[in-house]
Amino acid sequence: MKNAYLQKVYDEVLKRDPDAPEFQQCIREFLESLEPIVDDHPEWEKNGILERFVEPDRTVTFRVAWVDDEGKVQVNRGYRVQYNSAIGPYKGGLRFHPSVNLSIIKFLGFEMNLKNGLTTLPMGGGKGGSDFDPHGKSDGEIMRFCQAFMTELTRHIGQFTDIPAGDIGVGAREIGYMFGQLKRIKNQFEGATLTGKGLTFGGSLARTEATGYGICYFTEEMLKTLCDTDFNGKTVIITGSGNVAIFCAEKVMQLGGKVVAMSDSNGYIHDPRGIDLDVVKDIKLNRRARIRVYADEVPGSVYTEGCRNIWDIPCQIALPCATQNEVDAEEAKKIIAGGAIALAEGANMPCTIEAVELLHAAGIPVGPAKAANAGGVSTSGLEMTQNSMRLSWSFEEVDERLHGIMRNIFKAAYDASVAVGKPGNLVVGANVASFLKISEAMLAQGVM
Ligand code: NDP
Repeated sequence: MKNAYLQKVYDEVLKRDPDAPEFQQCIREFLESLEPIVDDHPEWEKNGILERFVEPDRTVTFRVAWVDDEGKVQVNRGYRVQYNSAIGPYKGGLRFHPSVNLSIIKFLGFEMNLKNGLTTLPMGGGKGGSDFDPHGKSDGEIMRFCQAFMTELTRHIGQFTDIPAGDIGVGAREIGYMFGQLKRIKNQFEGATLTGKGLTFGGSLARTEATGYGICYFTEEMLKTLCDTDFNGKTVIITGSGNVAIFCAEKVMQLGGKVVAMSDSNGYIHDPRGIDLDVVKDIKLNRRARIRVYADEVPGSVYTEGCRNIWDIPCQIALPCATQNEVDAEEAKKIIAGGAIALAEGANMPCTIEAVELLHAAGIPVGPAKAANAGGVSTSGLEMTQNSMRLSWSFEEVDERLHGIMRNIFKAAYDASVAVGKPGNLVVGANVASFLKISEAMLAQGVM
């Protein structure tokens, strides 16, 4: 980093968190984005704004003890990082996956804060989860784990304090079990304390679809403004086959695009005539089976074990929607060679910094996760609004608001990229637009 203040802040992060690669990566990307404007803001250094911004308000870890189907006690570790509440209560999902550790939760919490700053809604940033692996667990085990997790988490959350939601490994089923436990402990129906709820107990229509649909609404704006085109007739690859990927695929198809490949953590399917999404939904959502089953059931499709080679398949629009750092420099080169015109990050930080640099150098615009996938948390914000107003909006009403929010997010990121002299660099634009808003709120609220 050329600026001494930015470098000092980054060095301190490296010193304090030496074993946190994902966290260091997102901080580096963020600080580099501020290079064009940091000299115009001497008040940041004077008030320690960046030092405060990179350090979470609070980090909680806790033991989660639960009983498996054999009657044996199992112990996992739970996390909640409450990052920043300058513009609203902490808000962010819970991830249940064996890879979860403090570096991942801190990176996700940091990104969440910047993402929420873009949504136009009053939400701060936080994230949590556990190293619990839901794969292969019975429904009873999932329920007992969720209840044990919420028994401890309850003391840290609340509708005006911190509002968790789902993420990898935490869907409607898990949110339902956690909400039940929260209600039992508090003896209160606190709808706005947990989002992603079932429709019969305060959930919002279109929340399930929101992240995936939002990615497409954002990408539409990107294609229109930066590539002078749209989804119609384009070949698209979407990685993952979870909540985000499935509804992203649904909207791509509605907008006239053709999704030719999808994946799960074991491998990927290639269907050159276009993926049959009903089959994917049935396999992943109803049967909770592996994506390889698709190739057994749909003639003309092929399954390949392992995820790395999915980008060998050419596509015009790349939408990585599985997990962090799935697109590195090598994968980025394949995406470029395959003739891609745009990439939007559906997952959180799916591209490494080197991958983004290569894509930009090749003239391919990149929609950063904190902007492109903000539709999920935005609709969680709309769920909270409906809970507080004690009413529920129609699917169309929520979808229309989501669409408007995603258009505004693109505009904010694009306008900021122009303002700092990097037109079309949405990675820089999204960081700058959000940080200017949050840092102004931090300055106004004094030192804390
Ligand atoms: P899900 O658990 O529903 O799905 C994750 C999908 O990614 C699954 O298909 C999973 O495969 C696959 N996957 C996981 N790890 C890998 C890997 N290493 N290689 C290939 N595929 C992998 O999670 P979501 O769809 O909710 O989340 C996906 C991403 O989107 C995450 O980065 C999340 O943080 C982000 N996100 C989610 C939001 C939401 O509303 N849900 C909101 C904003 C961001 P398998 O089935 O084998 O586990």
